[in-house]
Amino acid sequence: FHQAERSPSRAFRPDATVAAMDERFGHVIDGEERASLDGAEFDSVDPYTQSPWARVALGGAPEADLAVTAARRAFDEGPWPRMGFAERGALLHRLADLVEANAAELAMADTRDMGKPVSDALGKDVPRTAQNLRFFADHARLSASEAYPTDTGHHAYARYEPAGVVAAIAPWNFPLMLESWKIAPALAWGNTVVLKPAEDSPASATILARLAVEAGLPPGVLNVLHGYGPDSAGAALTADPRVDRITFTGESSTGRVITAAAARNLTPVSLELGGKGANLVFADADLTTAVDWSIRAIFTNAGQVCLAGSRLYVQRPILDEFLARFVAAADALVVGDPKDAGTQIGPLSSQTHHAKVTSYLEDPSGKVLTGGPGDGWFVRPTVVVDAAPDSPIQCEEIFGPVVTVTPFDTEDEAVAAANGSRYGLNAMVFTENLSRAHRVSARLRAGTVWTNCFFVRDLRAPFGGVGDSGWGREGGTFSREFFTEPKAVVMAIDGG
Ligand code: NAD
Repeated sequence: FHQAERSPSRAFRPDATVAAMDERFGHVIDGEERASLDGAEFDSVDPYTQSPWARVALGGAPEADLAVTAARRAFDEGPWPRMGFAERGALLHRLADLVEANAAELAMADTRDMGKPVSDALGKDVPRTAQNLRFFADHARLSASEAYPTDTGHHAYARYEPAGVVAAIAPWNFPLMLESWKIAPALAWGNTVVLKPAEDSPASATILARLAVEAGLPPGVLNVLHGYGPDSAGAALTADPRVDRITFTGESSTGRVITAAAARNLTPVSLELGGKGANLVFADADLTTAVDWSIRAIFTNAGQVCLAGSRLYVQRPILDEFLARFVAAADALVVGDPKDAGTQIGPLSSQTHHAKVTSYLEDPSGKVLTGGPGDGWFVRPTVVVDAAPDSPIQCEEIFGPVVTVTPFDTEDEAVAAANGSRYGLNAMVFTENLSRAHRVSARLRAGTVWTNCFFVRDLRAPFGGVGDSGWGREGGTFSREFFTEPKAVVMAIDGG
């Protein structure tokens, strides 16, 4: 099949008249990098320079149709679902190696698309992408079937068969990390994929698909479809009856729309949605540990994290000391050009998102201790105290570097406050009391509870949320349940 060109400057030049831009990124369909049928493109804007840095193919329903057709054919007729786990896994390992070999290009693509500090992209996102590919390749091979021996003269076993064509729809905040979290298990279990990256972070998905071609994945196995969501590429993908699974990460409101579209075809949907993480710091916590992790929990990726610890609750005896240290640490964070290795906080991802985040600061309900809007599309690390419990800043997902700090007196009060959100993705507990750590973890309504840490993941563990934070769990065997059709085979040992 046609090998996609590796060099972005040589690949994909459908319109020589728009040549001023540094880079161009096409769809990747059936192993080839392509323009849209009508040649339509959109700009990807670098949020630091506020100027376009790349031109990207703008797909719609016709390109979604082409991508699903390619994925369907690759599943129904191609070698991928019929390969052994070891052979498929070897190709995914080769892709992981290529991800590492091309780490700088991949990391810089995410940084220029959405403003993530390149040190994070290189140090966290790209390594996790390689890890996702390797982990699911190995996990699928090691958990491919289960046997249920009985003493009734029968032998039963389960086969985990691939579901078919997977539509993977991703957000812009951790582009590579979250895209690979979906495509790695989907591919490892023998499915074919149409990945629709977010329109604010399209570039790295095309680079990843070029690398998949280079690694030797057969054509049509991993397709990338660029475009917008509503009434466009994303909507066409979710309405297509040839799609067997939809895995979606994004806003809760979008999750509702996608679920309604999927319901028409009874397509199973996995939803990883928004969050408003509660972070409980008890007076018996190690204060240095609590401050350090609480800073990371809210300000990593400029707070554009579904898991952000955006509601901080601090037990009253340590409130003043905690706040003094926390505000000093927030002020010490290095805000600047995300392409500089020392930068810790970059700009927000887009002008629209900047407008949304700063709108919460126009009427913050409480008192702003530090931070506020910065230059361009920056928002400085912002700490708000005394916000009203029912205020928008306290209740809604802001998705920016803004944290509210609220005192509490008792454990019951802290748990009730933490659980008083329509979201339930994650929570944090800081305490040196082991009994309290277990007791509070059990009482919190959340998909993940971290004690004395944040963002630490074991890829075998379930990941997902309750309430408005989503449906279902992914990770290890949880991904297997979603991306396969388990089949029971029952055999009589001696004539039945
Ligand atoms: P979004 O919902 O606006 O968009 C996500 C993706 O969905 C994009 O690719 C978009 O094009 C597509 N889309 C939008 N409307 C669609 C439609 N009608 N049909 C099909 N596709 C459609 O979300 P975002 O702004 O990109 O991401 C931020 C959100 O993602 C936040 O709410 C954040 O909490 C959430 N998020 C959740 C997790 C998690 O694991 N739970 C992880 C990261 C981000």
